[in-house]
Amino acid sequence: MSSGILEKAGDGLDEINDSGINLNKVNEDTNQEKPDRQKLTNRFPRGINWAVTGWLAAMHVLGVLAFFYFSWQGLATLLVLHFVTACLGVTLGYHRLLTHGSFKVPRVLEFFFSLCGIISGEGSPAFWVATHRKHHALSDQEGDPHSPLDGFWWSHFIWLQPWKSNEEIDAMIKRWAPDMWKDPMQRFLHHSYAYILIGFGAAMYLFGEYVLGGLGLSLFLWGFCLRQVVVYHGTWFVNSATHVWGYRNYETRDQSRNNWWVALLSYGEGWHNNHHAHQRLARHGHRSWELDITYAVIWTLKKLGLATAVQDKLPAGK
Ligand SMILES: [Zn+2]
Ligand SMILES: [Zn+2]
Repeated sequence: MSSGILEKAGDGLDEINDSGINLNKVNEDTNQEKPDRQKLTNRFPRGINWAVTGWLAAMHVLGVLAFFYFSWQGLATLLVLHFVTACLGVTLGYHRLLTHGSFKVPRVLEFFFSLCGIISGEGSPAFWVATHRKHHALSDQEGDPHSPLDGFWWSHFIWLQPWKSNEEIDAMIKRWAPDMWKDPMQRFLHHSYAYILIGFGAAMYLFGEYVLGGLGLSLFLWGFCLRQVVVYHGTWFVNSATHVWGYRNYETRDQSRNNWWVALLSYGEGWHNNHHAHQRLARHGHRSWELDITYAVIWTLKKLGLATAVQDKLPAGK
């Protein structure tokens, strides 16, 4: 698009995913009424989820402590696992594959990408997918899990803190990700999420201590704690910054923006207005300069015959 005029988004095909949820329809329904947004203090009706809050606080404190235990092996582990968890796990796996069905892979690869996402510490695949589909359906409306219209810091990370029972989380998954709920593999990963994540952290310490010789703490602090903090903020900025700052290629019913620095931090997720307009596309960078590393990985998988049914046809004029 070269005219600079915003293009109306959505061709009607993007919005219905494999689970049969029509995200546009839900959005239209909620446009009918716009009740006042709740005050931040009213969004904690049953208090704080101390497991989540404690975990995030601990990772941040230990992430700062990492700078007192520097090793080149620790830094290298952080960089490699940043790509493995943020790109392969969250962006390619949780988001484009599992949430939107932008392409298909063999089950063994789905399992692998799900594991990569789990060690990002951003929740189980089923939880993440359900939350994100709800975000698309109710973007910047009442009920959006993380809209900056409810406050920038709310959308960045405070939305994760209110206490929710397991029953509520299960009900949300059944509502927004019934395909994940019915899948025995994803149900298993949902229930073993915490064990896998903590087990991975312990294994990292033991590997550093006994295989690399006394580097357990450095590897754990850099490769597990600080790496999670960096990945968290990359993902969180997609929820906060790209609904506030940046430009729009498409007219959408939400506040989504394209933001280059978020795209760099999150392997292409910063082209968020493009994504809201054409949710099912595997490719989020629509213009030549909109670098999308995750799409490059998907393209490579396609060339290797490992990714099929890749939704990569750009809208006309792009
Ligand atoms: Zn969004
Ligand atoms: Zn999405």
